[in-house]
Amino acid sequence: MSAEKSANPPASNFIRGIIDRDLSQGTYANRRWAGKPGLAADHAQGAADPAKIRTRFPPEPNGYLHIGHAKSICLNFGLARDYAGVCHMRFDDTNPEKEEQEYVDSISEMVQWLGFGWDALGQSHLYYASDYFDWMYQAAETLIQQGLAYVDEQSAEEMRVNRGTLTQAGKNSPWRDRSIEDNLQRFREMRDGKHADGSMVLRAKIDMASPNINMRDPAIYRIKHATHHNTGDRWCIYPMYTFAHPLEDAFENITHSICTLEFEDQRPFYDWLLTRLAEAGMLAQPLPKQYEFARLNLTYVVLSKRKLIELVEKNYVTGWDDPRLPTLAGARRRGYTPEGFHLFAERIGVSKADSWIDYSILEDCMRETLEIAAERRIAVLDPIQLVIDNYPAGQEEDCYATNHPHKPELGKRTVKLSRTLWIEREDFMEQPEKGYFRLFPGNMVRLRYGYVVKCTGCEKDAAGNITVVHCEYLPDTKSGTPGADSVKVKGNIHWVSAAHAYQANIRLYDRLFKTPHPGSETDNYLDDLNPESVREISVQLEASLQQAQAGETFQFERHGYFVADRVESKPNAPVFNRTVTLRDTWQKK
Ligand code: ATP
Ligand code: MG
Repeated sequence: MSAEKSANPPASNFIRGIIDRDLSQGTYANRRWAGKPGLAADHAQGAADPAKIRTRFPPEPNGYLHIGHAKSICLNFGLARDYAGVCHMRFDDTNPEKEEQEYVDSISEMVQWLGFGWDALGQSHLYYASDYFDWMYQAAETLIQQGLAYVDEQSAEEMRVNRGTLTQAGKNSPWRDRSIEDNLQRFREMRDGKHADGSMVLRAKIDMASPNINMRDPAIYRIKHATHHNTGDRWCIYPMYTFAHPLEDAFENITHSICTLEFEDQRPFYDWLLTRLAEAGMLAQPLPKQYEFARLNLTYVVLSKRKLIELVEKNYVTGWDDPRLPTLAGARRRGYTPEGFHLFAERIGVSKADSWIDYSILEDCMRETLEIAAERRIAVLDPIQLVIDNYPAGQEEDCYATNHPHKPELGKRTVKLSRTLWIEREDFMEQPEKGYFRLFPGNMVRLRYGYVVKCTGCEKDAAGNITVVHCEYLPDTKSGTPGADSVKVKGNIHWVSAAHAYQANIRLYDRLFKTPHPGSETDNYLDDLNPESVREISVQLEASLQQAQAGETFQFERHGYFVADRVESKPNAPVFNRTVTLRDTWQKK
């Protein structure tokens, strides 16, 4: 858990309302905690649970985390922090086929990057659902012994047909009434590898006529001869997600199990299962309760693991951490900040109504946090030379640039001025348009942190393109000297000394998709990829940027926020990614 409390009191939401009520009523006051996950008997021997509430973040390690997960992480870890509770980091790794260590590592790293951790109240709360396979198996046998589960040998197709429809009740399986002994024996044979994948499943025995299809005898264990990343070949049967998940919550003493709305229809089974097993004495009480909130839908991106995998595997992006991807690894490389995600999670709130959040809200959150955090630097992105003809060749002098306009304590740094500078091409116009205050023949501007200069003209190549701009400086006008205000000018332009500049490559990133709801027109989200989502350009930066550390963020004045790329930067040769522009430029397009 983050040691820091959020600076502002968190906005209330319906989940906080539920927790406030539970705490005031003492709903969870008498729980005991075995010091680790366990069955009723284990917890009964433990001390009073020191955590006021327990939440969990339970990703399946079958992909990389994305911005939607950040919402869930901030919610679950944030609630635990604010209510003197604990949030469990649980890898929901009950499916042997798609899960990999690489994902486990990346997920752990990104949760910590967001500022959360799982060491709390003197112990680690990092858990793996696969560590509970023995208990899950025991839970299944307990159900069988209570006459609440049976081994079904119908084919998958028969089971599908007999499940019925929304308007039609299902039909009982011919295997539904086999004896408890027969079920136990069959289930043990399944466990012992005596049967082929798909030949039979264990089902809960509830009600084939239930209006909720999820209650029509859901499958709870299946045969799968597959090697699991944690348990190896020890098991050839695996619990279904809808069976495993409530049990994991119960073993871990979770109080508030918060999930996305798609699981609302699963809640009756969640409660059915846990109540039966608590009655049988297997699970500690009070039981966890499930609450659903609307998942994050964000415009201009896709937040589905399947689509993200496709983008990576088909090389539409350079990898999982491509700065254009809405993965957290990509966002970090793009220069998005943990603080920005916290602000975003607060700002979008938590509700039960599905909605779309505009991507610009996320960008605003990043801007707002970077505005506070990032030091200012000078960068010329579209360079053209400016020669100060009355400044002696070979001479140089120091100018003093402010690191942060609102944080004087961050001081100033030295930038060198010399005869030949780089300025932005757009800062000169041979024939100025109305209201143009920058360089044009006869006009005066201030070189930021330096002198006032008067433009004297320009040189052109054969094609008529401007190649060099000329000016003369007014020696008494240097910023920070008594004469600085002796000449009033309207324009103020930035520059870097050509002899001292660091020539670098920067990547200007834009949105990966050009439409707010990728795929809504053609049904194929790939049709909406933005062909101009990245542009690499060669630029002139102030010398100090050559020492930027990978991952360091800056505001390049007038241009936006940039980060030294954490993957491709070399020592003394950083490359920069544009994180976000200074203003929302997308609206104008
Ligand atoms: P899938 O089910 O496609 O594998 P998932 O996105 O549900 O993917 P999980 O690893 O199961 O991935 O998610 C972990 C947690 O993150 C879950 O509790 C889930 O509810 C939450 N989560 C996932 N996507 C979003 C989202 N878009 N907004 C909010 N929470 C999300
Ligand atoms: Mg999921």
